[in-house]
Amino acid sequence: MKYDTNSVGGIDANDNIPFDRCVNVLGWNSSRFDIALLWDALDCELWTMGVPIGDLNNSKSITVTNKNSHMKLQFIDAENLFGPLALKACVKDYEDKSEHKDVFPYEIINSKNWNEVLVKTEPFEYEDFKSQLKGGYSITKAEYDQYLIDFKRFTNRLEYLKYYNTNDTEIMAKPLMNLIDTFEQFNIDVLHYISIASCAYATKHYSTYFPSKFILESDKQQYYSDFDINADYSNPNPQAKPFVPSAGYWKNKCYHYKQLDYKAGRETEKNVTADDYDYFKRLLETSVSSICSAKFTYDNPPSLDRQDIELLHTKDNCLPACVSCNIAHANRDPKIASLHIKMRQYAIKNNLPMTISHE
Ligand SMILES: [Zn+2]
Repeated sequence: MKYDTNSVGGIDANDNIPFDRCVNVLGWNSSRFDIALLWDALDCELWTMGVPIGDLNNSKSITVTNKNSHMKLQFIDAENLFGPLALKACVKDYEDKSEHKDVFPYEIINSKNWNEVLVKTEPFEYEDFKSQLKGGYSITKAEYDQYLIDFKRFTNRLEYLKYYNTNDTEIMAKPLMNLIDTFEQFNIDVLHYISIASCAYATKHYSTYFPSKFILESDKQQYYSDFDINADYSNPNPQAKPFVPSAGYWKNKCYHYKQLDYKAGRETEKNVTADDYDYFKRLLETSVSSICSAKFTYDNPPSLDRQDIELLHTKDNCLPACVSCNIAHANRDPKIASLHIKMRQYAIKNNLPMTISHE
């Protein structure tokens, strides 16, 4: 490969200007088969293999860098972008329904017979398409008829194979372009992400800041512009089922608290025990969160919040609080904790992604 460092897209550039030259190379299901070829061909003096994303058996992406030009080639398995499905199904879902994927009986040729088999001028027999990889199944009669029609355009099996290889790669391009265009309207570059799930997640974040891209009527609405730290955002779902602690649940909790206190070097003799079940069942059923006043539901389970953090998990030292509030509350300034809790509730109420995880 040659790379002209003096001119990039008509703009003069030289090695002093940092410029990430990266070319994406896409393959279908390439993580399982083609990566091995890369190690063979590109793990050499001229190229450096990067660390694959994913694992060695299933590399979602791997970047190789040319040692002289610092040019990068990023190999991406396009199947990850669409989800686990056959290329044929992908073309059907993401593109023109009438497009057909060609067929070729891979399993009939091997390194010994390919020369003799491929020079033949007659098409393969229907039986030749039976595939051990696909559990002995063959292609459909309709696919075979289409193959016979296509084959007429070629002088022999080798010429058909060349066409097949090119076409088998090209049919991937249109679905990819469709996917890239779909996310482009949200300023998301599909090839910077590793899966369609991560693209969707990025879109969700984008929707928080540019809601008008998604709901045209809400042109002027900006989330968080009406956020009020003194407002009550608790209990976003009034239909949520109230939390009822079971004896097993309570026993687990007691064990967990005992472990916590033990690890922190606190005496655990006076800790709450499984025998206090009735007391706490009544307490949890009749009270709301001592921190945010939310009701306890299966979406918002309770925990015991120690009032004096120097002291143990005892009956006297604990008040019920949401698990999430308890975490936000821990060792923090009460005002910052309160802001965290309100923002979390606001996000749940408005179905927004939660972008804040730390102070
Ligand atoms: Zn709470």
